[in-house]
Order: sequence, then C-alpha cells, then structure tokens
Amino acid sequence: MIDQPYVYRHTELVEPDWQRLPGWATVTQQEWASSQWQRVHCVKNIRQLRQVVGDGLSDAFYADLQRDQAERATMSMLVPPQMINTMVPGLSPADPGFTEAFYADPVRRYMIPVFSDRRTDWPSHPQASRDSLHEAEMWAVEGLTHRYPTKVLAELLPTCPQYCGHCTRMDLVGNPTPVVDKHKFELGRDQRLDAMMQYLRSNPGVRDVVVSGGDVANLPWPRLESFVAGLLEISSIRDIRLATKALMGLPQYWLTDEVRAGMERLAKAAKQRDVSIAIHTHVNSAQSVTPLVAQAAKAMLETGIRDVRNQGVLLRGTNDRAEQLLDLCFALLDDAKIMPYYFYMCDMIPNSEHWRLSLAEAQRLQHDIMGYLPGFATPRFICDVPYVGKRWVHQVARYDRKLGISYWTKNYRTGVELDDEFALQREYEYYDPIHLLPEAGQEYWRSRDKTPVVVGAAG
Ligand code: SF4
Repeated sequence: MIDQPYVYRHTELVEPDWQRLPGWATVTQQEWASSQWQRVHCVKNIRQLRQVVGDGLSDAFYADLQRDQAERATMSMLVPPQMINTMVPGLSPADPGFTEAFYADPVRRYMIPVFSDRRTDWPSHPQASRDSLHEAEMWAVEGLTHRYPTKVLAELLPTCPQYCGHCTRMDLVGNPTPVVDKHKFELGRDQRLDAMMQYLRSNPGVRDVVVSGGDVANLPWPRLESFVAGLLEISSIRDIRLATKALMGLPQYWLTDEVRAGMERLAKAAKQRDVSIAIHTHVNSAQSVTPLVAQAAKAMLETGIRDVRNQGVLLRGTNDRAEQLLDLCFALLDDAKIMPYYFYMCDMIPNSEHWRLSLAEAQRLQHDIMGYLPGFATPRFICDVPYVGKRWVHQVARYDRKLGISYWTKNYRTGVELDDEFALQREYEYYDPIHLLPEAGQEYWRSRDKTPVVVGAAG
C-alpha cells in the first residue's frame, strides 16, 4: 500500500524543560506558572538572551541578531520565557549543534529574526508599506477601524506581551526600532475607548467587534472587562472576539484567578444577552502548543465563552509545508480544543519578503491540507488584500504569475469609499515576492522600481 501524503498521529503535548537553559536552571514550577514572573523575565535584548542560553549560541549568531536589530527589524525584541522555552525543545545549549538548531527553529524564525534570514536582493517589495492594510485610514474614531459594513476592529492599545517580527501592525504596535518609528495615538486611552463606545452606540449596523491591539492581555484586566461589559450593553452587538496571542505566548496570564473570574462574569452576561464571546489567538507552530497553552484555552472555554480559535500566519521557514500546518491544527484541536480558523498570508510590510509566500504557494497549501481535518476545523487560507479585506486565496479574480500580481474584487465599500461609485467595479492588487518570479518578472520590477522602501517615518 502506498503511504498517504500525510499520516496523522496523536501526539502528547509536552512542556519543554526550562531548566535545560542555564539562565533558568533553578526556576521552580511555581515561578514558571506565575504570570508576573514570566513578564519580568521576558527577553528584551541580546544581553538577556545570552543570560538565558549562556554560551550555547555562537558569537556569529549574536552578531547576526545585532545587525538585524540595527538595520532591518521593524519590531523590537520581546519574548516571554514560555516562548523561548519552546524553541529547540529537545536540545540543551551545551549540546552540539544547538546554534544550528536555533537558527532553523520555526518559532525563532519569526520571534527572533536575524539579518541572514532576510533577503538581500529584495528585502522589501516596492509596494510594501507601513500599515499595509490601511487600517488607520479607516479609523472611524482613533483606533477603531471600520472596514467591513457589519464589523469593526478596536485597537485598544499599542503593546503586546510578545512582539512578533512579522507584525502586520508594525506601524503602531511596539517600541520604535533603529529603522522604524511608531505611530502614536493622540487621544489618551480612556478618551479613545470612550469615543469607540460612543461610535458603536450610534452605529447599530455594526454587529461584530474584534477587540484587539496589540494584545488585550496587556490591558489591565478591570479596564478590559469594563470595555467588554460596555459592548454587551449595546443591543446591536452580537459577536465579540478578543484577540490575544498571549493565550499561547503567556498562557499563565489567562490562568490567573483574576482573569478567569472576570471572564466568567463576561461569559455569563453574554449568555444572558445572547451574545457570543470568543477568544482569537495566533499560533504558528505545533511546538508552541504545550500543556500550559492547552490548560489556558480549556480554562477559557470552561468560563462559558463560545469558542477559542486560531488565526496563524503563513511564514516561510516556520509553517510553509502542509505537514507542519496539519501537525499544528491537530495539536490545537486534539488536546487544546482550539479551533483552527484562518491562516493569513503574511502582509506586505517592509523587510518581510523572506517570510512571505506567493499566492500560488498559499493556494497549494490550502489544497494540500484539505480532507484530513473535520470540515468545521479546516482552516481557510486568507489573503488580506489592501483596501478590500480578507479573501480566501482561491477567490482571486485574475493572477499574473509572471509579474506576481493578483487582482481581487469586493462586494462592499470600506470606510474610505462610502461615496465612491466605482469602488465595486475596480480590481485591487496584491503582490507576490519578487524573488519567486521568473526572470522576466524580476526584470520588470528591477526596471520599474529602483527606489528602496522607506520605513522610518510614522504615518
Ligand atoms: S501579538 Fe499580534 S499585534 Fe502583537 S506583535 Fe504579534 S502579531 Fe503584532
């Protein structure tokens, strides 16, 4: 009998031993389980990474990282111990080959990018931009993006407990880096959140609110709870989704008594009002799904919320093979009860070409994962097209593979086109990485655009 392309095996989740890392050799179970301990011991710079892994990484690796931070990184470094511990889970820094394994690690690839990861020919696509989805242009009030007719995205805060190298909101989220300033909210937090609430009260056409950031795990719990409780008072709102990568990056936070009790209150109120609350998280690799992550997800489901769903991002070197994606989906579904929901193509931000896949690759991956997962848990692969919104990768209207340009249409006006009678007749473009194009396509871009993308000025 011929083997199937993918063979399912149930794999027990494992919490890697953090004591294998010299800097955490004496850290107790109790300390590890503490959200506070995790936050205090996040790795924010090269010196702290050295303290954790000791001499396990070569000097060349640190030089590579240093150069990336000085010349390419659009996000500053912030990695919770929980996430560091899932990198190279089977090796100690003293083991031979640790540096090579660290370089190749799927989580390291996007959380601790180094200069040699990036493309040198086309580090950025000429059409890449800060705020590549134009979310700020669509702010109805500061931080509230009204892109779709019935849904809004509320960016409550510009920070997260962890910073991902490929963050699509690099324009707003995180600390400035040597190559990127960050946009700063003009209104104070409470003023901004009050303005959002006021807008939602006066726009009953909105039924679905994505409460995001940044990451809601960085908002003090009482403020998040009062915001969500406020949403529950608005009768037109039927769906609330809380966006938090920290369910994976800092599961200890979602396991605190304060948060569990608060989520129970919100879930109870939501039930009384017939509103669905869900948590949306962001896991890109199966090795990130540990018993603590599963415990946090199940604790949230036990509060009575509707669901916990995953929105991963397709990243070369992290999850660009179908078996990696299927391993991840089964790890989420089997033992953590997290619903695989979306895999986004990486957005067109500066310096992301080494991560991005072409549309054809994303279509192929969607094809290759079909049929293994239950239909309800088969994630859709999504291209978030500028000025359009989310489109399944097979919904493309036209696709010029030579130039790497896909063309997309839409069936609603975004917040910036409410008076544009031609918005629904237009085609909107999305671009494949140039280094994947045939020579004639690469030559087109070389001759067309010699201007490097400027990433420094905040919009
Ligand atoms: S958690 Fe989300 S918002 Fe925060 S850095 Fe990562 S991708 Fe960006």
